[in-house]
Amino acid sequence: MLFNLAVLFGTLVAMEGVGTLAHKYVMHGWGWWLHRSHHEPHLGMLETNDLYLLALGLIAALLVALGKAGHAPLQWVGAGVAGYGVAYVLAHDGFFHRHWPRAPRPVNRYLKRLHRAHRLHHAVKGRQGSVSFGFFYAPPLRVLKRQLKQRRG
Ligand SMILES: [Zn+2]
Ligand SMILES: [Zn+2]
Repeated sequence: MLFNLAVLFGTLVAMEGVGTLAHKYVMHGWGWWLHRSHHEPHLGMLETNDLYLLALGLIAALLVALGKAGHAPLQWVGAGVAGYGVAYVLAHDGFFHRHWPRAPRPVNRYLKRLHRAHRLHHAVKGRQGSVSFGFFYAPPLRVLKRQLKQRRG
């Protein structure tokens, strides 16, 4: 049991790394055409960017299915991927962008920094030159601001 929990938590932590890299190099790279909707003003509840979440859900389901088929620890990796997806929706859609009517407000320094860092991520409209690609870890704000200034030249 302890091993399974370790796999679950390890996956959750690793997913922040995977998510940050995917956001930086895939979503702001060759996958920009899907992520772009998220960096433009929009009216509806859904964006093409949500397809990334769907892909994450499919990967999680596949891992759980493989786990059930005999590769046991993969179930917990799948659960970790799914858990990260849920946490992403709560943090990114709910907390950062306030897509929900009663959005929680940042109450501590960690959440404030996370929130402002994502604002800075959206301060850049195009594909290139953005900062802070993580969702649960953000570099110090002064570092991000310096990066933004340098990129604007
Ligand atoms: Zn982005
Ligand atoms: Zn965003």
